[in-house]
Amino acid sequence: PPLLEMRGITKEFPGVKALSNVNLVVGSGEIHAICGENGAGKSTLMKVLSGVYPYGSYSGSILYQGAETKFSDIRASENAGIVIIHQELALVPGMSITENIFLGNEPRRFGRIDWQAANRQALELMARVGLSEDPDTLIKDIGVGKQQLVEIAKAFAKDVKLLILDEPTAALNENDSQHLLDLLRGFRSRGITSIMISHKLNEIEAVADSITILRDGKSIETIDVKGEGADEDRIVRGMVGRDLNSR
Ligand code: ADP
Ligand code: MG
Ligand code: MG
Repeated sequence: PPLLEMRGITKEFPGVKALSNVNLVVGSGEIHAICGENGAGKSTLMKVLSGVYPYGSYSGSILYQGAETKFSDIRASENAGIVIIHQELALVPGMSITENIFLGNEPRRFGRIDWQAANRQALELMARVGLSEDPDTLIKDIGVGKQQLVEIAKAFAKDVKLLILDEPTAALNENDSQHLLDLLRGFRSRGITSIMISHKLNEIEAVADSITILRDGKSIETIDVKGEGADEDRIVRGMVGRDLNSR
């Protein structure tokens, strides 16, 4: 079976139907892009998946690794290996890279936090994302591209199987964006599945194995692009509901 199947997901906020009967199927080991215009429901769908909106607050079902899941909170989804990196990074600016990577989850020895072990493990995790910084550096003293990498290193500290990135390159420069896309490819070659929210067609084309298009809270279509490259016109038509050239 696929790694993930979300079926008929409907999510309402007071006065807003953010998701209406949305379906999403993600295969094991792929990079799956979710695209759609601002307000299409992309972030809400991923918050449903990652337990930000717990079971009971949406309707529809989530099958993960072949079994129905009912996450009660974010920790429950993380324990299942699903880690989301939100658009707004969840780092503490005045704390170090190591402190952020292990926040609330520090290695301990004889009941006390073992900072030597924490720094050593942090360096290993940082190496996996290509971050060569002193682990004692404070988050506020590194750029947003490196902050993003700290978040990914933090995901690896939690033994991630499904990594969700919500518009990860939105605030990044060209170099940092390329580094991130290279990382995703590397993770794929090691069997880690990624979902990347993006509306940048060039980067979707560069890394996605399949693409699901959302529009006005509905899933419009999923395009399998393996080996073919994305058809940009088709994606744009799905996102906006018409040909951009016609009116
Ligand atoms: P996207 O990520 O595709 O830009 P969102 O999932 O953030 O879209 O939002 C989808 C719709 O749900 C929008 O109309 C948005 O205003 C609404 N929405 C999202 N989060 C909330 C919330 N917490 N409360 C009320 N409305 C929300
Ligand atoms: Mg948005
Ligand atoms: Mg969003």
